[in-house]
Amino acid sequence: MTHQARKRFGQNFLVDEGVVESIVRAIAPASGENVVEIGPGLSALTQPLLRSLDRLTVIEIDRDLAARLRKTYPPDRLVVVEDDVLKVDFSALGDKLRIVGNLPYNISSPLLFHLMPYAGQVVDQHFMLQREVIDRMVAKPSSSDYSRLSVMLQSRYHMVKLFDVQPEAFDPPPRVVSAIVRMTPLPEDRPQPLSFHAFEQVVLKSFAQRRKMLRRGLAEWAGSIDWTGLGIPETARAEELSVAQFIALSDSLFAKGV
Ligand code: SAM
Repeated sequence: MTHQARKRFGQNFLVDEGVVESIVRAIAPASGENVVEIGPGLSALTQPLLRSLDRLTVIEIDRDLAARLRKTYPPDRLVVVEDDVLKVDFSALGDKLRIVGNLPYNISSPLLFHLMPYAGQVVDQHFMLQREVIDRMVAKPSSSDYSRLSVMLQSRYHMVKLFDVQPEAFDPPPRVVSAIVRMTPLPEDRPQPLSFHAFEQVVLKSFAQRRKMLRRGLAEWAGSIDWTGLGIPETARAEELSVAQFIALSDSLFAKGV
């Protein structure tokens, strides 16, 4: 059965056995675990994952690929959710989730944000993404990759870039280099923003003018801010603030009713 790769679904299928092995080793699936794979495609990861698992849930948008998976694996081993992952309610998939996937790169950021509210029921997430995106996810303050994505995700996850994957590992090869990231939700007792919405807004507004002094950049939107006690230097720019400083700033604006 051949399958013509569909560009609109970001289909680049992994064909390098060595890379598949390295990814599965990094995930280290074990019997009894609740693993969910996003975008199983032609089963490059699905099959080796199933070797260690009793049951695996997969989410696939492509009707033909979903049908093929249903034909290949018995339903008590592989649960196929045929849907757009951005519409899937992960709270219905159980607890202690381990989420994995060679993701469609065209929806990477929306998907990472879609998963954030479920972090409390997640053990870890292993994703293959465009390397550039992973560099932004793990970037530290004052580096050129430090961005809204870094701050938002680092407020909720500990993240490690594991290794690069070259385009030749796929069919068809993507135009970019890929990499694997491991995301582990931070413990619940870590300081969280009082309001996630306020935090999102502050980070968004701050990085809209990343090179401007933050005090000036936010003044128009938030009015006068009491900066005393926030530990943020007067001349600071968004790209210099730590995640903890963004949380403190957002909490103070939230308390002020912004
Ligand atoms: N895991 C396979 C592999 O490694 O060879 C396929 C990876 S391919 C980059 C991405 C997969 O995600 C495809 O199977 C594609 O159909 C699926 N996909 C794309 N958009 C999706 C969406 N919104 N929801 C669920 N699956 C999606």
